[in-house]
Amino acid sequence: METFKGIAASPGFQLGEAICLHPVQTAVDTAPISEDKVTEETELFEKAMQSVKEKISSNIADSKSRGHAATAEILEAHLTILGDEEYANEIIELIRDEHKNAAHAVDTVTQMYFQQLSSLDDPILKERGVDIKDLGGQVLLAISGQDRPSIASMGEGRIVVAHEFTPSDLVECARGKVAAIVAETGTPTAHIAIMAKSLRITACLGVQEVLSAFQDGDRVIVDGETGIVIRNPDEATDREYREKREAHLRFLDELTNIKDLPSVTSDGSRKIQLAINLNSVEGCDEAAESGAEGVGLFRTELYFVECDAPPSEETQFQAYREVAQKFAPHGVVIRTLDVGGDKEISYIPIPPEMNPFLGLRGIRLCLDRKDLFKTQLRALLHASAYGNVHIMYPMISDLQDLEAANAVLDEAKEELEKEGIPFNSQVPVGVMIEVPSAALLADQLVRGVDFFSIGTNDLTQYTLAVDRNNDRIAARYNPMHPAVLRLIKHVAEVAHQHGKWVGICGELGGDKNATAVLIGLGIDELSMSAANILSIKHVIRNTLATDALAAAERAIQTAPHRVYPDKPDSSKPDSTAKSDTGKSDTGKPDAKPA
Ligand code: PEP
Ligand code: MG
Repeated sequence: METFKGIAASPGFQLGEAICLHPVQTAVDTAPISEDKVTEETELFEKAMQSVKEKISSNIADSKSRGHAATAEILEAHLTILGDEEYANEIIELIRDEHKNAAHAVDTVTQMYFQQLSSLDDPILKERGVDIKDLGGQVLLAISGQDRPSIASMGEGRIVVAHEFTPSDLVECARGKVAAIVAETGTPTAHIAIMAKSLRITACLGVQEVLSAFQDGDRVIVDGETGIVIRNPDEATDREYREKREAHLRFLDELTNIKDLPSVTSDGSRKIQLAINLNSVEGCDEAAESGAEGVGLFRTELYFVECDAPPSEETQFQAYREVAQKFAPHGVVIRTLDVGGDKEISYIPIPPEMNPFLGLRGIRLCLDRKDLFKTQLRALLHASAYGNVHIMYPMISDLQDLEAANAVLDEAKEELEKEGIPFNSQVPVGVMIEVPSAALLADQLVRGVDFFSIGTNDLTQYTLAVDRNNDRIAARYNPMHPAVLRLIKHVAEVAHQHGKWVGICGELGGDKNATAVLIGLGIDELSMSAANILSIKHVIRNTLATDALAAAERAIQTAPHRVYPDKPDSSKPDSTAKSDTGKSDTGKPDAKPA
């Protein structure tokens, strides 16, 4: 028996036979081509591109027909990337002007994009880099005329072990009813993790050197709750995990039964609103089916980072209206642009900053670029005529920030009124509490808002002075730290004194280990990814309000205890210092000792 430890990326307990998916070698010949081969190589590239696009389109149709909206959404984004003319043109230019062969040109341009994007701090753009690497690999494979072995025909209930999986691999895994996947690469926020959850495939990612250790036919246990993978388990372990799997299946059954039941504590005294976090309108359908009562955080950044010029008021209006209409009459909390110095947006030049996370980000940037801000507010106001839109400002530090933002909102309202554009003049306005000063000054801010939503991802990093993206200090990143919880308690008390509601929209909102404490601290709404809604509802329905109060009291009194991972080898280059978010689904770091 041999035990491996990775990241728990999609829940479940699975036992089965291993299938090892070894990478298909696509060695790239770097020898230049002669002039008379240019047309041939260009056509080879274009045909390969076309075949990858067709495969993705067919996977999109397949995913939609099976109701896997999140998967279809990711694949649609892939199709958009492949449709980007700049990527294709740069490859064609290399073939034409530098006489690189098709494979060499694809490899060069893909690597260039990947390096650029993966060096950024923003997890969304980082993930885009992974997408491009994935897609480039598929185009290379098509150029070489090879294909990966068909996962769909490997046999139901298998556990597929690979160095990495592409989104298309995952669609095939679902088609072939694969029980679990184990990959050497991947992070909790990677598209593969999102897809595995959506496709209900148990997944452990980032399991080091697993592929070389496994052979086809090995018996494997995959624990999607802890990230543990066991090769050839002994009898006792096998039995233990069979029991765990049975219990988990019973739990899943119970979850489907509570979908339409209210999210109230077991004594009926506390109702907790359950909402979802969304990054684009494409996720709406799956989210609406999750049993959520609205959107607690709609991040609008994607509309700004995916283009070369600011999105027009009309484009934004269409998107915001669509979400508002989809969820009406439930509330949809739409956050104004939250980009900053660490994210490169070509049309928002920001001079280099020593500490971008302490720099011109969130509302600070919007107040600096009132033109962009007002356009977004106009679009949001216009959308408020079509549903229950709530406007929320990110990174507010104090009342001066809030008043400055509200002044721009008032200007936007006046303009719309003059232009005869309809909007809800009473549109609720709230702020994210993610800077400790805002939490401490909640009593001043509360008079200018209708609600607070606590962004625990940033509130944790700023309260504890721990970079949320730095794996080296991941053990210090703890949203359940009593210092953070005391701020949350204070904000909830102030909000309630003034008859306002308070939610959590950071990852902590979807962490079932935190739910009782958050109820006890007085939180009214929890916003999370759609996949967590039912299990959080299950916890709420099985929690007594008095127990929640006691749990909260204990948690704010606890003396924090950090468990440090093994010290990294300092002789190695610092490849982890600015990599992914390093956090599990729960927002808590995964850097526990193996
Ligand atoms: C947060 O900081 O908790 C939050 C929800 O915002 P983001 O993760 O987008 O910074
Ligand atoms: Mg934040």
